[in-house]
Amino acid sequence: MLTRKSTPDPPAQQTRIQQIMLAIGMIHEEHEAKRKEECDNDLNGHGQIACPACDGGKIRYYIFGSKLKTRGACSTKNCLAWME
Ligand SMILES: [Zn+2]
Repeated sequence: MLTRKSTPDPPAQQTRIQQIMLAIGMIHEEHEAKRKEECDNDLNGHGQIACPACDGGKIRYYIFGSKLKTRGACSTKNCLAWME
């Protein structure tokens, strides 16, 4: 019998999570560099990075320093958006 259904696990979902993880890593680096550059001890920050998932999109992010939780959204519609 050929009634086997393919499991509903879209690979796009996987890569999106990976892209978000990548973006979070970039934000951590950027935030750390900014703090060093500005000798700023403020652990919270916000800014923009180039989106790793689309061409030309910018991710606007917020980072909450003490726990390094991030929040971000790409300027491209339906691209990356997350909240930790
Ligand atoms: Zn994007």
